[in-house]
Amino acid sequence: MPLSTPLARRGVLFVLSSPSGAGKSTIARKLLASDRDIAMSVSATTRPMRPGEVDGVDYHFVDLERFREMTANGDFLEWAHVFGHRYGTPAAPVHQMLEDGRDVLFDIDWQGAQQLFQQAGGDVVRVFILPPSVEELGRRLAARGTDTQEVVVARMARAASEISHWDGYDYVLINDDVERCFGQVRTILEAERLKRSRQTGLIGFARRLMR
Ligand code: 5GP
Repeated sequence: MPLSTPLARRGVLFVLSSPSGAGKSTIARKLLASDRDIAMSVSATTRPMRPGEVDGVDYHFVDLERFREMTANGDFLEWAHVFGHRYGTPAAPVHQMLEDGRDVLFDIDWQGAQQLFQQAGGDVVRVFILPPSVEELGRRLAARGTDTQEVVVARMARAASEISHWDGYDYVLINDDVERCFGQVRTILEAERLKRSRQTGLIGFARRLMR
């Protein structure tokens, strides 16, 4: 087998969490654009669509009745209440992506990270991104301009409680420079992909080397 042929490996369930405004979406976008082996899990949510969002791309926007139905059907890998709305990870596409040999990226909160870890422990890698300061967090939230002042204030309060869960993660990064933080996220993903426990093709490869 030529060296350039990748060995079979188990997919990584790669969770990125942060309080909103810490730069997580930018990093997720860069990761998806730069790496064909990882695909995004698109969540379902009952929250209203924001300007610029696309149904089926940013989220599957559903009403409460449909969300409840999906919950009752066991369609979700995890789900939670966030900011007064429900958010959940549909299980089927995640299983399909893993079957296709791809890693899966999750932009979910600490409750989701916890539930996913309970279900799929060894396959899950949890990364938490912190803003460099509370002032910078406030500035980034206000600069977004897509939410009302009331929502921004609520998000600042929510950020504090989200941050309190930093120790439920495998890696905690401080995003004071988006390029540097992105580089760190890439490094983590690369290293996690190389873990022996994920390299299911290694046994056969090593056997052939020893022949
Ligand atoms: P937003 O409404 O700003 O897009 O997202 C609000 C929060 O919900 C973010 O912290 C995001 O990570 C979280 N979130 C998005 N989708 C899911 C999901 O499927 N499950 C969970 N537990 N949290 C989610």
